[in-house]
Amino acid sequence: MALTKIYGVLGQPIEHSLSPAMQNAAFGSLGLEARYCAFNVGRPRLREAILGAEALGFGGLNLTIPLKEEALQAVRPDPTAKAMGAVNTIAFGDEIRGYNTDGIGAQMALEEAKVQIKDSCVLIIGAGGAAKAIAYQLAQAGAEVTIVNRNADRACDLAGWVGGHGCGLHELDRLVPEADLVINATSVGMKEGDPSLVDGRLLKSSQSVFDVIYNRKTELLRDADRAGAKTVDGVMMLVYQGARAIEIWTGLKAPAKVMEGAVRKELEMR
Ligand code: NAP
Repeated sequence: MALTKIYGVLGQPIEHSLSPAMQNAAFGSLGLEARYCAFNVGRPRLREAILGAEALGFGGLNLTIPLKEEALQAVRPDPTAKAMGAVNTIAFGDEIRGYNTDGIGAQMALEEAKVQIKDSCVLIIGAGGAAKAIAYQLAQAGAEVTIVNRNADRACDLAGWVGGHGCGLHELDRLVPEADLVINATSVGMKEGDPSLVDGRLLKSSQSVFDVIYNRKTELLRDADRAGAKTVDGVMMLVYQGARAIEIWTGLKAPAKVMEGAVRKELEMR
């Protein structure tokens, strides 16, 4: 009998990760003898954990906060992960290879919702890890990217890197109406009662609005719904970054709908 292939997500904290529910649903649907688990690993033991997983014959790993940047030192990153300075997926073969599927996950979520990217005016709020991956990916895909962030220096640094304009939050009111696509890539909206960083009255039906937050429906998306704008939530980015990881590990097309269903069901139960 074939051994069960083990996959996992490493991070700290990791208890609330949705990835085990999502990836186990995918493996089940694909009929693979595989199991995906969450492992509580911090930065000091990341290298050991990766080498240990390789020695045990794991099929692959995902990484989350706070490990994505640190992992660059422990794997051979592909050009995208190297450019983004962060790894969220590891595959084992002749060597330990690192990938970053966050950016492509965001792009696939937008494409599935039929949001135009090429030649679009994209306003990204945030300049952290998620914003960086999305900005890089969408700029590569031909979008004109503007970055707005609480810390304006970080916005300018990221904008300079992807070839766009960067500024502080005070310019949001001027920039929102000009954007084809507005993206919240900050952590604002994760907590019940978090306000939106965008004045909802500025949104309009010709726009698309994407929020990376996946644990709840944010005020930004509620305002976008009210304005008649097209909306995409963070669940879809989560699903497609995970789907891409499965494709890297197995070469099989991942069942995105099954994965989405598993994530939404898990969220409902929490
Ligand atoms: P991060 O690197 O810590 O960046 C956080 C960002 O949020 C920074 O731009 C920060 O601005 C901004 N921010 C935080 N509090 C703020 C506030 N009160 N007002 C205005 N801006 C604020 O975090 P990250 O890794 O990019 O993650 C950001 C969010 O994306 C998290 O909620 C995470 O769960 C989510 N995420 C979702 C997916 C998905 O698949 N859907 C994937 C990755 C991440 P400053 O620079 O000024 O501090």
